[in-house]
Amino acid sequence: MNLAGKVEQYLPPHLLELVGNICELAQQFGYQVYLVGGVVRDLLLGYSNFDLDLVVEGDALTLAQQIATSPLLRQRMGKLATHPRFGTAKFKYGDFAIDIATARSETYAKAGALPIVVPGTIANDLFRRDFSINAMAISLMPNSYGELIDPYHGRNDLEHRLIRILHSRSFSDDATRILRAIRYEQRLRFNLETETARLLKENIPMLDTISSDRIRHELELILREKYPEYAIKRLNELGVLAKICPSLKGDGWIAEKFDKARLLNKPSQLPSLYFCLLVYSLSAEELEQLIHRLNIPGKLSQALRDTLCLKTELPSLDKSSLRPSEIYYFIHEYEPLAIQTNAIASESLIIRGYLQLFLKKLRYVKTLLNGEELKELGIFPGPELGRILQTLHKAKLDGKVNTKEDEEKLALLLKLQTKKEED
Ligand code: ATP
Repeated sequence: MNLAGKVEQYLPPHLLELVGNICELAQQFGYQVYLVGGVVRDLLLGYSNFDLDLVVEGDALTLAQQIATSPLLRQRMGKLATHPRFGTAKFKYGDFAIDIATARSETYAKAGALPIVVPGTIANDLFRRDFSINAMAISLMPNSYGELIDPYHGRNDLEHRLIRILHSRSFSDDATRILRAIRYEQRLRFNLETETARLLKENIPMLDTISSDRIRHELELILREKYPEYAIKRLNELGVLAKICPSLKGDGWIAEKFDKARLLNKPSQLPSLYFCLLVYSLSAEELEQLIHRLNIPGKLSQALRDTLCLKTELPSLDKSSLRPSEIYYFIHEYEPLAIQTNAIASESLIIRGYLQLFLKKLRYVKTLLNGEELKELGIFPGPELGRILQTLHKAKLDGKVNTKEDEEKLALLLKLQTKKEED
C-alpha cells in the first residue's frame, strides 16, 4: 500500500520539506529513512501529529550531526539533543519535534530490565515495538516513497479498533506495556484483542519487575491524555492501580474531579493537578508508600504532601464570614497545586469558595508601600517593620486601606502604638 498521498495531506509543507532534505542527506551516506510509530498510526487514522519519529537504517547520530552542520537545515531544525547510548537524536523547533533513531534490535536478558540493544534493520525495529498499530513504518526514500511496511497487520487492527501485542512474551518482557495498552485502548476507544487481554491480565504481577521511574513515566503519560480518567478507571478495574499502590483508586469520584479540574485550570497544569487529585483520598502513610514506589521527585511530592496536610487542616475554615486576611494567612504557605486540588476536591462549599477566592484574588493582593518606603517613614528594619507590613497587608486584604495615603496613615499609627507599648 502506498501512503504518499496521506503523508502529503497530513504533514504541513514545512515539515515535509525538512524531511525531504534529511532524506537527501541520508542518501549521501547510503542510509534508508522511515517514518515510524505513532505518527504512522495517526496518519492512517486521519489525525495530525507533529512529533515525527524517523528510523534510519544506518547511523542516526552521524546523520543528526550532518543535519546540525548543514547550512540548509541548521537554521530550521532547532536545538539538537543526542543520546549516544541509545543511538538517538532529537530536534525540537516550535510546535514540532523530530526524533531520529538508529534502527535497532532488542533482546530482554531479564524481565522488566532495559533491553540489550544492537543496530538492526527496519524489520527488527518494528518487531521490538509494543503493539501492531505502533509497529508500522512508511518509507521516505525516493525509490519507495510512501510505501507502508506493516508486518504485524497494524492497519487491519486499526480498522477493527484493536490493540494487539506482537508476541506472547511482550508483557512479561516489559510490563510497562500494560499501562501503554490501556492508554491507547482508552485514548482511541479501541478494544484489547482477546489474547492480548488475557496475557495482559496474566502479567499484571510482572509490574513488580519495573523500576519506579519507568512506572511513573507511564503514569505521567496517562495523565497527559485528554481524558485520563478513562484509563485510570480501567486500570482500577483490572487491578493494575492496586498493584502499583494498593490504596490508589480510579472511581467515579476521580472522573468527576478530573472533569472539574479541566474547567478551572490551564491545560499545562493539569497533569500535576490530576496527580494530586489521585492521592487526595490516601492517608499520609499511603502517600509515603506511593512516593517511594514511584520515586516521585521533590517538587511534586511536596505538592502531594501539602495536598493532604491542607485537607486535614481545612475543616477549621468551614465557617461563613471569615475575613479575607484570615483566609489568606491560613492558606498562603501551602503549595499552589495543593490549594488548587483542595479547591476542587473539598466536600465543603464554603471551603471551596474560600480557596477559589484565594486563587483568583487574594494571592495577588499586595500593599502599595514597600519595606524601603516604610523605612523612609522612620520605621526601623527588623521585626517591627515585618509586623507593620503584615498588618498593612491584612488591612489591604480586608479592604480597610485602599490608597497609598491610607497605608501611610496606618503605618504611622502602628509605629506610634509600638512606641507607646515600648515606653
Ligand atoms: P503517542 O503517545 O501519540 O502514541 P508515540 O506513539 O510517539 O506517541 P511514545 O511513547 O513516544 O509514543 O513512543 C514512541 C514509539 O516507541 C511508540 O509508537 C512505540 O512503537 C515505541 N515504544 C515506546 N515504548 C515502548 C515499549 N515499552 N515497548 C515497545 N515499544 C515502545
